Amino acid sequence: MQFFINVIVPLALADSFTYEVNENEFHYLQVGMRVAVPFGKSKVYTALVLSKHNVPPVAYQAKEIQEIIDSQPIVNETQIAHWKWLAEYYMCTLGEVYRAAVPSALLLESETIVVYKPKKEYLISEFTDEEFLLYEAFQSQAVLKIEEIISILNKKNVFPVIQSLLEKEIIVLNEEIVESYKPKMVKYVKLNPEYDAPEKLKDLMEMLSRSEKQRSLVMKFFQLKAIDKKPITSKTLLEKADVTPAVLKGLISKNIFEEFTLAQDRVVFADVNKQEIVLSDSQQTAFDSVVTSFEKFDVTLLKGITGSGKTEIYIKLIEQILKQEKQVLYLLPEIALTTQLVQRLTKHFGNQVAVFHSKYSSNERVEVWFRVNQNSEKAKVVIGARSSIFLPFSNLGFVVVDEEHEPSFKQQDPAPRFHARDAAIVLAKMHNAKVLLGSATPSLESFYNAYQNKFGLVTLEKRFGNVKLPEIVLIDIKEKHRKKEMKGHFSIDLLDEINQTLIRGEQVILFQNRRGFSPVLECLTCGHVPQCPSCDVSLTYHKFQEHLRCHYCGYTMAKPVKCHVCHSVDITTKGFGTEQIELEVKELFPNKSIARMDQDTTRGKYAFEKLIDAFKNQEIDILVGTQMLAKGLDFDNVTLVGILNADNALYFPDFRAHERAFQMFMQVAGRAGRKDKEGKVFIQTYNPYHNIIQQVTTNDYGSMFKEQMYERLNFKYPPFYRLIRLQLKHVDFQKVKEGSFWLYNLLSKQLEMPVLGPEEPSINRIRNQYIRIILIKIPINIPLNKTKNEIRKSIKSFEAIGAYRSIKTTISVDFY
Ligand code: ADP
Ligand code: ZN
Ligand code: ZN
Repeated sequence: MQFFINVIVPLALADSFTYEVNENEFHYLQVGMRVAVPFGKSKVYTALVLSKHNVPPVAYQAKEIQEIIDSQPIVNETQIAHWKWLAEYYMCTLGEVYRAAVPSALLLESETIVVYKPKKEYLISEFTDEEFLLYEAFQSQAVLKIEEIISILNKKNVFPVIQSLLEKEIIVLNEEIVESYKPKMVKYVKLNPEYDAPEKLKDLMEMLSRSEKQRSLVMKFFQLKAIDKKPITSKTLLEKADVTPAVLKGLISKNIFEEFTLAQDRVVFADVNKQEIVLSDSQQTAFDSVVTSFEKFDVTLLKGITGSGKTEIYIKLIEQILKQEKQVLYLLPEIALTTQLVQRLTKHFGNQVAVFHSKYSSNERVEVWFRVNQNSEKAKVVIGARSSIFLPFSNLGFVVVDEEHEPSFKQQDPAPRFHARDAAIVLAKMHNAKVLLGSATPSLESFYNAYQNKFGLVTLEKRFGNVKLPEIVLIDIKEKHRKKEMKGHFSIDLLDEINQTLIRGEQVILFQNRRGFSPVLECLTCGHVPQCPSCDVSLTYHKFQEHLRCHYCGYTMAKPVKCHVCHSVDITTKGFGTEQIELEVKELFPNKSIARMDQDTTRGKYAFEKLIDAFKNQEIDILVGTQMLAKGLDFDNVTLVGILNADNALYFPDFRAHERAFQMFMQVAGRAGRKDKEGKVFIQTYNPYHNIIQQVTTNDYGSMFKEQMYERLNFKYPPFYRLIRLQLKHVDFQKVKEGSFWLYNLLSKQLEMPVLGPEEPSINRIRNQYIRIILIKIPINIPLNKTKNEIRKSIKSFEAIGAYRSIKTTISVDFY
């Protein structure tokens, strides 16, 4: 009898491949274990076992696997079912889901580059012979390719050695070359094993009879050990015994104590005392309603205004789930995932909290992966950004999706282009777990689901501590310009208010949803605007670096002193970003401390946290920033929020622009006024009578919802239609133009529903690739699968045409 396994490889290819194994391997292997498999002519990939069987493949001769990597599955069957759903729903391959789901350190492949970069101390004597060979090679060359390692070790199966060096944290893989995170090393003391028993204490005391201090240190050590078996740090021991380090040194040189170092756990949190939360009456009512709602609904939407204390309600619910010994997933948009929030949760759940997001290195992600996989006590509550839906939960009991309206929950690139909220709802269903969506400004989709009784709905309309919602003041900048009541980009009214706020010792947030100094540099003589050579956009001027930069591809050039076309020196800037506002504020308030928070100032791993901490500690008076500062941050002393220009968000070419503008303004406004301080929000706009601005001013989500839903229905958009967007890309303008027409014609013939396009998007070229868009609007009552199959077939016919094969087509289901 022959033995086979079906595996997925981390590639955008057909869903699974069959390999041959021997009988022993067959019995050893389990679904969800990794195996290294040869692929194509000379490549090796880390594949995942999907199934075991005895049926040889018909179309090809099955190859043999190269080796088994795991002794335990690292992926469970529920995950595989969920991944299959993702691949089907979001129209990609299972291989693409696998590649996105599993941390790259667990997906070694023949192209992987291995970098020598020890993060811990290690003993050469503990290396195996093969590890030692590699260690030696690394001494003359810090980077090795897999094929080099194969020739150094003179064998093909090199993944286990690499895996072991990875676990010892002596090497890292390709993409981590830039990582600079180092675990903190902590010194511990232990007794020489010879003395490590209570009955030895007397001997020791006699030996040390001449040194009072050394004796008291040893006594202290035995006392501490009796209370707690955990390793004792040198620092604690010295503090408790109240002696100098020299005393310990003396004992170490007498061979009584030994000192050793350990890496502190990566995700370390201070030992905080657990605080009991007492919910306010309205929080308690909301909490009870959520519990009742879960009797009827799998998903409940908690619509609670900013500052209403939704987090405390989540915490109370999580406490209940933990009592049932289940796992909890707490999903947040990447930028809202702050230390602040992690600390708030850790206060209650201590070491049971694990954090998972993209700023963590691959090694750190692997650690969380294994903890979740082992259902470890250290990962009962996982706080993470969208990729945490891929973790190997085996016993998930509850999912919180906070700020559920955030567009960044939808992954744009690469595939799977999933929406984390929706994928989490499906995952929860597979585990029989409940989902709570939280937001002050729910997405139209979720609110509509609640309205239709698909989700439960609980509302919380009071801020915690009865803090009032901020007063909103509209400033008509057209009129202010006419009356000459503007200074730079500031109305006199806003400046006065800033002044008064600062005089009271309170803080100010200024919001401008655009970074850089100004988005356009224009020649006054001929009108020329410098463009990115590879993208169809103008270059943004960054004053600090005196350069122009493309925000799509990163291209930069020095700021021109003369127009490139007519050589005139009369060059001016148009429009403004955060950098310009920061400079203006610095001139207007020279004695105040001013900082800026946007993508440009928060690149480093902890840069964002540092800014937030400084602002929270009131080291900064005025913080200028993009929407980054709107997310789930909680500042006690901010009483004024200024929105410099509300209009560019309103006129963004996107059917969700109005909904998003409403959400963004409400969220930014929500930063004003906490605790006992009432806040004010100044909105500068050319359109004070715009419906969205009016709805923000009166905190009228209901009207916004009604009006936007009417538009969505009229213009055939979600939630009444599902959108599937096809994007075609190629360097040849003509080719992509013809190809997209061809595909469009086929689709509109095959599908009995609106097919739009092929449209040239407002930015029609990025990184030298021309872009065309085809949009399919599927009425909500039409079976989705049938439509998707038609689309798949059409794309297949399209790709079968030689001339179009090189056009790259990507599919985004539920396009955002
Ligand atoms: P939301 O997430 O709904 O905007 P938060 O959960 O951030 O609101 O709560 C706002 C503020 O009120 C926070 O500073 C929080 O610590 C405080 N708070 C909320 N509920 C309680 C409570 N029950 N006891 C003490 N403080 C609370
Ligand atoms: Zn010119
Ligand atoms: Zn560019």
